[in-house]
Amino acid sequence: MGKTVLEIDLKALTHNFNVISSKLKPKTKFMAVVKANGYGSDSIEIAKKLVSLNVDYFAVAFASEGVALRKSGIKTPILVLLPQVESFTEITKYHLEPSLYSFYFLNNFIAFLTSNNIKKYPCHFKINTGLNRVGFNEKETDEAVNKIKNCDCIQLVSLYSHLAATEDLQESKFTLTQINLFKKISSKIKSKISYNPMLHMSNTSGIFNYPECEFGMVRSGIGLYGYDNELTKNLRPVHTLKTVVSQIIEAKKGDSIGYNRAFICEEKTNIGIIPLGHADGISRSFSKNAHVFINGKKAKVIGNICMDIFMVNLNGISAKEGDEVIVFDKKNNLEDFANAVGTISYEILTNLSVRIERKFI
Ligand SMILES: *Cc1c(COP(=O)(O)O)cnc(C)c1O
Repeated sequence: MGKTVLEIDLKALTHNFNVISSKLKPKTKFMAVVKANGYGSDSIEIAKKLVSLNVDYFAVAFASEGVALRKSGIKTPILVLLPQVESFTEITKYHLEPSLYSFYFLNNFIAFLTSNNIKKYPCHFKINTGLNRVGFNEKETDEAVNKIKNCDCIQLVSLYSHLAATEDLQESKFTLTQINLFKKISSKIKSKISYNPMLHMSNTSGIFNYPECEFGMVRSGIGLYGYDNELTKNLRPVHTLKTVVSQIIEAKKGDSIGYNRAFICEEKTNIGIIPLGHADGISRSFSKNAHVFINGKKAKVIGNICMDIFMVNLNGISAKEGDEVIVFDKKNNLEDFANAVGTISYEILTNLSVRIERKFI
């Protein structure tokens, strides 16, 4: 005991993988999204576990994340969602499969493959169907596919797109428009090339809410880690973030707490000093509404969250120095914490700094 740990429950990961897989048709491939260090966990340990569960594919955001997986011995195909032109050498050296998402990337990659005499390199073609982030628009696909056809250096393993609002059923009309546009563009591309790439579109909430866009593969990130608002009933949170009460201070009515005197005690207040701060990923912007659990009771953060420390109000809570502090766990859901502080589980997890020890259970 003593310091802050992020416990990562690989049994819960297995459970979530099985729950999500059970939603899929037997032939559908499972791509596990392990970008951003496995959503703040540890991409290598998470990936190794998923390999043992026979996952079909991994996705990362950048080439360096794929290189780390390869260096740890992972042989599973890896899609790089947002590869940069600077990483061609890493991509090909480590057999990473880039997403083709812009003419800038495509033209430069074709030039690189050609000059290195590389043939039929596995790539994934990204179609923008309304998220309006990365990918080729409908009217750009002809030109992009022609370039791919006219060189023999690229093999399209898949055509894919990303949905904008799968978790929000109020937006189902928009989502269905995206799905239909994807079907239309992808069948046009397939008719132009003489082979049959896989199709994929769904993220976690798409898997649960839009089975019609399962296609040949799904990409699941947040659900593997056990989160996703309404769906969490079946999924099990993988993470427990816990620390300890470092010190307890008795403050008098009128005393101010912490930097900028942001909190003034309205009564005699027991203050718990918690050794976790914005350098650990507990953002200073959470100061107003964050809370933790101590001996089963909710303790509100008071004052400004500091770099290494935040303070909580212990009035009404029986606590002593050394007691365990739960920021989130299976019972005290990260989604609730994220809601309270005005963000989403994804952001909290991926901000947890390297300073926090990861412990696998
Ligand atoms: C991050 C990401 C995913 C994973 O989404 P979840 O909501 O975490 O399941 C899927 N596809 C793309 C393109 C992504 O960037």
